[in-house]
Amino acid sequence: MRYMKNQNRDNLSPLDFVQETHKIKAGGMTPKCPRVYVRTFGCQMNEHDSERLRDMFVQRGYALTERVEDADVIIFNTCSVRKHAEDRVYGKVGTLGKLKAKTPGLIIGIIGCMAEAQKDEIFRRLPIVDFLCGPADLDKVPDIIDKIRNGAGHIMYLEGYKSKRIPEFIRDRRIVSNTYVKIMEGCDNFCSYCIVPYVRGRERSRPSREILEEIKSLIAKGAKNITLLGQNVNSYGKGLKEKNNFIELLRKIDKIIPSPLPSPLWGEGRVRGEIKINFLTSHPKDASQELFKAMRDLKSISKVMHLPIQSGSDKILKKMNRKYTVKKYKKLVKDFRKTVEGGTITTDIIVGFPGETLKDFNDTLKIVREIEFDAAYIFKYSPRPFTKASKFKDDVPLKEKERRHRLLLEIQKKISLSKT
Ligand code: SAM
Ligand code: SF4
Repeated sequence: MRYMKNQNRDNLSPLDFVQETHKIKAGGMTPKCPRVYVRTFGCQMNEHDSERLRDMFVQRGYALTERVEDADVIIFNTCSVRKHAEDRVYGKVGTLGKLKAKTPGLIIGIIGCMAEAQKDEIFRRLPIVDFLCGPADLDKVPDIIDKIRNGAGHIMYLEGYKSKRIPEFIRDRRIVSNTYVKIMEGCDNFCSYCIVPYVRGRERSRPSREILEEIKSLIAKGAKNITLLGQNVNSYGKGLKEKNNFIELLRKIDKIIPSPLPSPLWGEGRVRGEIKINFLTSHPKDASQELFKAMRDLKSISKVMHLPIQSGSDKILKKMNRKYTVKKYKKLVKDFRKTVEGGTITTDIIVGFPGETLKDFNDTLKIVREIEFDAAYIFKYSPRPFTKASKFKDDVPLKEKERRHRLLLEIQKKISLSKT
């Protein structure tokens, strides 16, 4: 953690702040709480982190607001997987200068992956930002805000992932029907294009006891659809003291899901039960027939498999450091479809990776037509700092990336529509 001097800030004491923000409304006794605005960019992992953070704020007496104009604290939970996501944050926060100037005590924070990737470059480009916090330290955000109120100046709370920590959020969560449970953090795969291992750190799993307790309490509060989150859920358990793996974890979870009453509404091929457990994301190098059997046999586990292929060319997959071939991927899909009747497969694809020729791209088109994914998330390659691929020549021109992106989207759209 580092502190920086802040030249130009209003030094409200904590008492002033409480008096400012808890003013009793005239004619009534409703206290006015400090209000926090949290906006999320990026993946489900970030959505989940923001949700946990909101719960912490509520517990600390804050009110949530949807409008920056009403906020005492503005937080952007950011993504750095593609440069475009960072540009959007720079653009959005850049528009808040006037609001900051006319709102005494307004605190602005940038948290998450972009904070970790860009570090003090953010303070240089956006002097109105008061603090940065990386993904491993998000549970500290309310304390960071208190420190700023106490006159600490600019704060950076980064690189917590180096100590392998996972944020310790409060256990008490607000009831949401569709919700997430993080089972692991970080990634050890180092796909050559991907910044995640550099901003979220190495893989670390949460003990199964903690995960089970969290799921139980969410179900008790009414959660119906729970998604287990990890960058590569199939390697869950690595480094834990207990002997456990992802399939074991799924079995343990399935056991604690209450059996629903029988109903004629549950058709064949659908998840048999009222409470559904999904998971994201599976890496093809670690997905197995054993996993597919678990998806077939465990009544509460969803039959949706998100299995990013990234490219249909072995040459590109090798350059991406994905550690599987198109042949192996096709075999996985065949096994999945044979084993998990009524199952759904979705994927991620990157177009315009360095060295992707027309032939490589046509190989991707071919595999997409052949497999007929239920849905595909298609991205234009974006060079990212720290990554191996950032040293490769980004040789597919933007216009060509856009053309490949459009073409693939059109083809996938037709496939997805034909399946509905
Ligand atoms: N761990 C997951 C996995 O392996 O699929 C998801 C990681 S990432 C947040 C989600 C998707 O973003 C990846 O599957 C990939 O398609 C895409 N992505 C990652 N880095 C990218 C980059 N530099 N440029 C374009 N797309 C990228
Ligand atoms: Fe990134 Fe690859 Fe890890 Fe997914 S598996 S987070 S794409 S390095």
